[in-house]
Amino acid sequence: MAITLAQLASKLGFTESEMQKKILELGFEVTAEIEDELAQLIIEEVTGKVEKSAAEVYDQKIAEEQEKEIVKSQRKQKAGKIVKKAPTRTFERIEVRKGMVEIGDSITVKELAEKANVSAAVLIGALMKNGILANINQVIDYDTAVIITTDLGVQLKKAHGSASAEDIFKGNLEKLLEEDEEAILEKRPPVVCVMGHVDHGKTTLLDAIRNEHVVDSEAGGITQHIGAYQVVHKGQKITFLDTPGHEAFTAMRARGARVTDVAILVVAADDGIMPQTIEAINHAKEAGVPVVVAINKMDKPDANPNKIKAELVEHGLQSEDWGGQTIMVPISAKKREGIDALLESVLLVSDVLDLKANPNRPAVASVVESHLDGGLGPVATILVNTGTLKVGDNFIVGQTFGRVKLMKDPFKKSLQSIGPSDTAQIAGLNDAVESGQILQVVDSEKTARQKAMQVHNMAKEELITAGMGMQEILQRIKEGTLKLLKVVLKADTQGSLEAIKQALAKVKNDDVAIRVIHSGVGGISDSDVLMAAASPGTLVLGFHTEANVQVQRLAERMGIEVVTYKIIYELIDDLKKILTGMLQPELLHIELGKFKVLKVFFTGKNEMVVGGRVTEGKMEKKAKLRVLRNGEKIGEGQLTGLKLVNEDMDALEEGTECGARYLGKVLLEEGDVLEAWKEEKKMKTL
Ligand code: GDP
Repeated sequence: MAITLAQLASKLGFTESEMQKKILELGFEVTAEIEDELAQLIIEEVTGKVEKSAAEVYDQKIAEEQEKEIVKSQRKQKAGKIVKKAPTRTFERIEVRKGMVEIGDSITVKELAEKANVSAAVLIGALMKNGILANINQVIDYDTAVIITTDLGVQLKKAHGSASAEDIFKGNLEKLLEEDEEAILEKRPPVVCVMGHVDHGKTTLLDAIRNEHVVDSEAGGITQHIGAYQVVHKGQKITFLDTPGHEAFTAMRARGARVTDVAILVVAADDGIMPQTIEAINHAKEAGVPVVVAINKMDKPDANPNKIKAELVEHGLQSEDWGGQTIMVPISAKKREGIDALLESVLLVSDVLDLKANPNRPAVASVVESHLDGGLGPVATILVNTGTLKVGDNFIVGQTFGRVKLMKDPFKKSLQSIGPSDTAQIAGLNDAVESGQILQVVDSEKTARQKAMQVHNMAKEELITAGMGMQEILQRIKEGTLKLLKVVLKADTQGSLEAIKQALAKVKNDDVAIRVIHSGVGGISDSDVLMAAASPGTLVLGFHTEANVQVQRLAERMGIEVVTYKIIYELIDDLKKILTGMLQPELLHIELGKFKVLKVFFTGKNEMVVGGRVTEGKMEKKAKLRVLRNGEKIGEGQLTGLKLVNEDMDALEEGTECGARYLGKVLLEEGDVLEAWKEEKKMKTL
C-alpha cells in the first residue's frame, strides 16, 4: 500500500514542495508514491509522535510546564536574579531503575526516559539544572545523557554498534567491532578459507572436511555449497568458508569484511607452485592472515612434497621441519587422508592468534553468500564477527535492512541464536546484498530503515569510494601520512616483470617506500583491483597489458587507480615522481555534447529528472554540465543518470530522446540546454 506525495503533504499540512523538502531533509528519497511504512515513519519524524499512551500525555504535559518554568527562570537569570534551585514539583514521580542502561551516540529525551524508566519531566528538569532547555523530542548526546542521569542513580553505557552510516557504507568493521573492555571477551572459533591454484584440490578438500566433520551428520551430509559451514574437531569448532579461492576472500576484504583468521593453501604435490598459488600467498600476506600449507594429492605416484617445500621457500614460506615457521601437512583430499592432522594444525595456529569476541552484545556479522530464494526472498549466509544474532533482531546490511525471520544451519535445521564465528543462512532481508557486506543489529526497525536509507543515499551519490585514488595517495604522501606506496604490478612477460621489480627496488626515498604486494603475468584482473581496494594506498600498474572494460568499471566503482605503461622507464619515473610529490594527475577537459530539456518530470532538493533530446555530440552519465538559458550560462550541475525508456544507460548519442537525472542548484526549465563535458586524468610531471 502506498499514498501519494500530495496526500501525505495535505495530511501534514504542507504544500507539496514543502513536503518534498522535508522528506529530503529527513534523508529519504522523494518519490511520487510513498510506501505506507515509510509514510508512517515520515509522519512520526515530522510530528514527533506516534499514538500516545496516557502516561506519555501526562509526561508531555509536565514537560510543557517545565519548559515554561525554564523560560521563566531564564528570563529571571537575564534580569540578574540567579535562580538557585530548579523546580522540584515533578520529582515526586521519580521511579528510578538502577542498573546499566545502554544508549547510542545520541537519544531523544523521551527515549531516554523510557529506557531509564524515569519520567521525561524529571529528565527535562535535570537538563534544566544544567542549563539546557529541552522538550521531550530534543535529541541529546551521550555525554549530556550521562551527566543528567548519574544524579538520578541511572548508569548509562554506550551501546555497541552505534557506528555512523558512513562507517557502514565504507565497511569500517573495526569501528563496529570496538569493545570497551578486554575482560568481557570470550574465546571464539577460527574462521578458515581454502586457497590455491585451480585443480590443486581445494573443492575436494572442502567437501572432504564438510562430509566427515560437520557438526550434525543426521541429514547424511550436505552436498550443496552454502558459503560457510562449521565442523567440530576434538571438541573445538572451526568455521570454514565454503567458497574456495582467494578471489572470494579478497572481494570480501575489499568490501570491508574480515572473515578469515587462517588460510589453508592447497598445493598439489604432483604439480608445483603455480601463478594462483603465488597470488594466494600474496593475498594472505597482505591481509596478515597466517597460512597452513596442505600438500595435496600425496596418493599420486609422482607426488614430491620436498619439491613443493623448496619452491615455497622462494615465496617466503618455510616449512617447520626445515627450520621455518609454516606448518605444512601432507594430505590426500581424495582419499581423505591427513585431514585430521590438517585441522589439528589449523587449531594450533589459531590458538596462537588468541581469537576473541564478545557474545553478549548485538551482533555484527559479514555476508558470505546471498541469493534470491523462491519462497523466502533474499537470503544470506552470514558469519558472526561478534555478538549474538537472534531470530527477531532488526538489522542493517549493505544498503538495505531487515529482521531475522528465520535462521538455519546447513542442514536446514532452525536456529534461534548464533554467536561469534558461527554461521547460518538467514531470511528476512528487504533486498539483495553482496558478499562482504557488513550486517549490524540495531535496536529498532526504524533505526534500521533510517540508517539503510542514509547508506543508500551515500552510495547513490557516490560521495565516498572504498579505495584510495591517486589524488588521495598524493595528498597523503604530501601530508606525510602515507609511508608505504603499495603496488599491484602486471606485465606481459615474466622477463619484463622481473626487470620492473628490480628497477623498483632501486627507487629509494627517505619518506615513502614502495612495496609490490602482488605481481603477475597477464591482463589486469578483478582480483588485482579488489586486492588494491582491500589495501588502502595501492596503485594497480600494468606494463604492456590492459584492464578490460569490466575491470575498468570495477576500478572506477572502487576508486582504484589503474595506470598502464608501454615503456619501463616511464613507469619507474612516474613512481619516483609520485614519491616526491612531483606527479599530478593532469585533468584534460573534454566537451561531450548538448542536451535540450523538453519536459520536467520531477524536482527535488538540488535534483531533477527531466526529459529531452541529445542535440549534439553525446551525453555520458556523470558528465559535468553547464546550464544555458537563451544561450546564456546560468549555472552548473552534473548528470547523475540517463534513462532510455526504462533502461539505465551509460552514454547516449546525438538524436536520442531520453530521461536525464540532474544534480544542481539551478532549477531547469523546458527549453534549457545542458552542455556536457568531462575531465579525464592523465599523469603530468610538474
Ligand atoms: P580445485 O580447482 O582446486 O577446487 O580442485 P578440485 O578439488 O576440483 O580437484 C581437481 C582435480 O584433482 C579433481 O579431479 C580431483 O578429483 C583431483 N584431486 C583432488 N584432490 C586429490 C587428491 O588428493 N588425490 C588425487 N589423486 N586427486 C585429487
